[in-house]
Amino acid sequence: MATAINELPVAIGQTKLLINNRWVNSRSGKTFSTINPATGEEICQVAAAEDEDVNDAVKAARAAFESKHSPWRKMSAAERGKLIHRLADLIEKNADELARLESLDNGKPYHVAKTADLPLVLASIRYYAGWADKVQGKTIPVANEYFSYTRHEPVGVVGQIIPWNFPLVMLAWKLAPALATGNTIVMKPAEQTPLTALRVGELILEAGFPEGVVNLLPGYGPTAGAAIVRHMDVDKVAFTGSTEVGHLIMEGAAKSNLKRVTLELGGKSPNIVFADANMDQAIEGAHFALFFNQGQCCCAGSRLYVEAKCYDEFVEKSVARAKQRTVGDPFDPKTEQGPQVDETQFDKVMGYIEAGKKDGAALLQGGKRVGNKGYFIEPTVFADVRDDMKIAEEEIFGPVMSIIKFNDIEEVIERSNRTSYGLAAAVWTRDIGKAHAIANNVRAGTVWINCYDVFEPGAPFGGFKQSGIGRELGEYGLQQYTEIKTVTIKL
Ligand code: ADP
Repeated sequence: MATAINELPVAIGQTKLLINNRWVNSRSGKTFSTINPATGEEICQVAAAEDEDVNDAVKAARAAFESKHSPWRKMSAAERGKLIHRLADLIEKNADELARLESLDNGKPYHVAKTADLPLVLASIRYYAGWADKVQGKTIPVANEYFSYTRHEPVGVVGQIIPWNFPLVMLAWKLAPALATGNTIVMKPAEQTPLTALRVGELILEAGFPEGVVNLLPGYGPTAGAAIVRHMDVDKVAFTGSTEVGHLIMEGAAKSNLKRVTLELGGKSPNIVFADANMDQAIEGAHFALFFNQGQCCCAGSRLYVEAKCYDEFVEKSVARAKQRTVGDPFDPKTEQGPQVDETQFDKVMGYIEAGKKDGAALLQGGKRVGNKGYFIEPTVFADVRDDMKIAEEEIFGPVMSIIKFNDIEEVIERSNRTSYGLAAAVWTRDIGKAHAIANNVRAGTVWINCYDVFEPGAPFGGFKQSGIGRELGEYGLQQYTEIKTVTIKL
């Protein structure tokens, strides 16, 4: 049960737009409310960017990218790397405050923000800071009296649209590779969770980034987000969010200037448990795979396929584990699960729980709201789930586990692939042959073997099929922020 939070656990800093290194109100003067999901109460008002603000930000970003006098353009790659490192150092110095803000605005437990989100933010930014002066082209042996080489040049002005489930991590995954390769940025944080991005904006100024390099535009998707997507002077848009909006982003890019698009979208990831697995590890791993971050992970293991031979034992123990999961105040160190991010998400998840019941799945644990304030939902477990039920087909994005029975490996591979998504998959087994069969045959951007949700800055992440286009993290993530130029010389 959530305890009332009467006093905010952290001071609120900036609530304006960052354009050309200045904090400004939106031109329309409009603001929006950001809510504490643990109480449903407003935290503060934040400036709401719209078309004209996007124009201003894009103009500043273009000047920083292209103007002869721009310090960013003149800066060496090694200097860029140093600046990005400086930002990481400032984030580290202020990690506790950022974790508090993240928890307040998003609802995730503070200790999780501090020990999971912030370390990954820092590792990702430092990883890309190290790349800044190591991005290089190739020399190519072409025919006759010619010689070619390639240059990896920045794409230009990059629009970045951030989701609310991991506000700081997603910011880091987009900001750092774009800066390392010399782009300039117009970023829109999610309207549910703008506060940590704005605090990072203050640190960007403190680090000494030149004017116009990073512009931050809190605001709504269909207004500020769509204005970035259709802007004729934005060269690329990087988006993480729903598959539905992913379609709109591609459409917007197609109808404007064919800007480059990278998308990290939804998923319905199969998590496959064989009877020969270490059962305790598989049960805890599957619990984490589904319930981590209140179930609000695009790669959540939300189709939990369990081999018939161990199905009953697995279900029983998974229900017992879910019963123990502590739900409540995100600032209580004992809390494992905070609230869903907002009322819309809360209603959506409750709708899926109703659909599971209606379709005849066995509700063995949870299924109800916790308390009467904020957006808390009981850790919920359905067994006897069939592939054609709504809860097995659609992304729920909440603490709802669906346990599905399978009999053999060929069958589970085929069923795993019967989806329009392809973000992640996992397998739990002691048999290396089965592990590789799953890894090679399931069509997903990431496959975890005897683990889940392991993220390393060097290891790329992204989706097959309608889970996305392109990759984030690693060297592959870097490539999405450069254009390849071929230079050919007559010798
Ligand atoms: P969710 O449905 O989980 O809230 P969304 O895909 O709607 O996820 O949101 C992810 C991000 O995309 C947010 O920053 C949101 O404001 C933005 N967004 C939503 N709709 C649009 C749109 N039409 N164009 C551009 N960005 C959008």
